[in-house]
This record gives sequence, structure tokens and C-alpha cells, in this order.
Amino acid sequence: YRLRCVKMAVPGVSGGSCSDSSWVTQETSWPTFGFYFEFNGQMLEARRKIHWGRDKPIDITAFVRSGKNTLKVSSLFRRPNPSATGAMEYVFAIEEVACVTHDNVVRGFSVISGGDETVSIKASLNATTTSVDDDDDIIFDTEKNTFTITVAEPYTRSKLCEIPVRGKTCKHRECFDLETFLSAEKRFEDVSAVDVWRCPICKEDVRPGELLIDDWITGVIKALKQNGQQDTRAIIVKADGTWSPIVEEKEDNAGSANARAPSENTGELMEIVELD
Ligand SMILES: [Zn+2]
Repeated sequence: YRLRCVKMAVPGVSGGSCSDSSWVTQETSWPTFGFYFEFNGQMLEARRKIHWGRDKPIDITAFVRSGKNTLKVSSLFRRPNPSATGAMEYVFAIEEVACVTHDNVVRGFSVISGGDETVSIKASLNATTTSVDDDDDIIFDTEKNTFTITVAEPYTRSKLCEIPVRGKTCKHRECFDLETFLSAEKRFEDVSAVDVWRCPICKEDVRPGELLIDDWITGVIKALKQNGQQDTRAIIVKADGTWSPIVEEKEDNAGSANARAPSENTGELMEIVELD
């Protein structure tokens, strides 16, 4: 169990509550001074940036008892007027940290069905050809009425995603590879750190229960592999939902060597001429 405090703009708190996803993606931020925390009669000391490198949660596991527990927060300040421009509030919560095994993470995600995804892709293209998409992974071509989706895993871009996933709150279609993500997490011995469950693309909440596997992209990747096109990094999707891989020119060593060769030769020749 740990006590955390985050700073939020007043409209984001909306009536004293915020969504789990917006809570977990906020960095811990303790008030600079004038706040005191007491849990079950035990004074707690905030772990501040000055001593810990950044503000950190307070581990209260040792003070938790069965039945009623009391957290008392005293402040020297008044709550800000919610209508004041730029008003911020400190929001406190006690989090229960649980462990999920690797196998359960891999087995436990929801699936976005291929049908839903195709409909949504068609809708994106047909709804407006002038829409501006903020995502880096999707590039709309309004003239051809197509768009491009990256299908390579985002860490190295050197291979296709094996298990393409993203978070429920992610706004992008691009996926990251689940196994690569799990192996890249910061670990303490065999257990991953608590606050690392963020989307590598957009930093949204991707805790185990928040992961979605993209069935449509899974199908695309399967087809690419069957066709021997595993070097594909992105695909072009048309308004009817059909797609084709973007063929990237391979780094042609021979070609670049040839390209470089003449200038090198020229250099040598010039040098010889100069010596003569
Ligand atoms: Zn994301």
C-alpha cells in the first residue's frame, strides 16, 4: 500500500474524482510545504525530490491494519477557488499494488475484433478526408484517400510486432509488441517496477488490465509473414479496408558504395594531379 499525491488542474478533478487512467499517468507531486500526513496515528514523511531525485510515494504497508484505517491530511492553505484560472488541486489516494504473473499479463488482455477495427478505419477515411490526425503513426493522404499505419514494433523498428497491443485509452492505432515491452521494463530482481506501465508511444496507461490486442493488425502481420514480407515497417490502408505493404528500399550497400566511389576516386585523382 502506498500514499500518493498528484497535482491536477481543477477541471480535471471534476467533482473530486478522476479516472484511474488519468490518476496513474500523473507523476507523484507533494506540496512544497504546509501539508501534514498522518495515517492511523503515524506521522508520514513525504519523499521529496530534494532527497530522492523526484517526488515518490510513501510506503504505508507497515501501518495498514484490518478494519478501519484513517488518513488525516492537514493543510495550512485553503482550497483554491475552482473557478480561478489555472487553479490546481492536490489529490491524494492510497494505492494497493498487486503482482500479476507474466503469463497472466500475456493471457489477460481484451481483443479488439478485426471487424470493429475495419469499420473504424473505413469511418476514419470516409468521415472526412481533410481530418487532421495528431498521431505520428498515421499519415493521411487526402488526395488518394488512404492512410499509412506503422506495423513495426516501436522500440527498434527492426521487426514486426509479435503480439500487437496498445492501451484502452491510447488514441493511436499503432501498436507495440507486448513481449518486447515486458522485457524492456525496469525491474527489481524478478518483479517489474510499479510505475512503468505506460504506453511507449503516447505514455497513456497500459497496466495489465488496460491492454488491448489489435486483432486487425495481428491479421495484417500474419499475412505479411506468410507472404515473406516480414521486413515491412508500414502499410497503406484504403477506404474499403484493403491494405498493402509499403516496400522500403533496402539499404543497398553496393549502391551506396558505388555512389561514394566516384567522389573518392575523384579525390584521389585530384590529389595525384596536385602532386604532379
Ligand atoms: Zn499509446
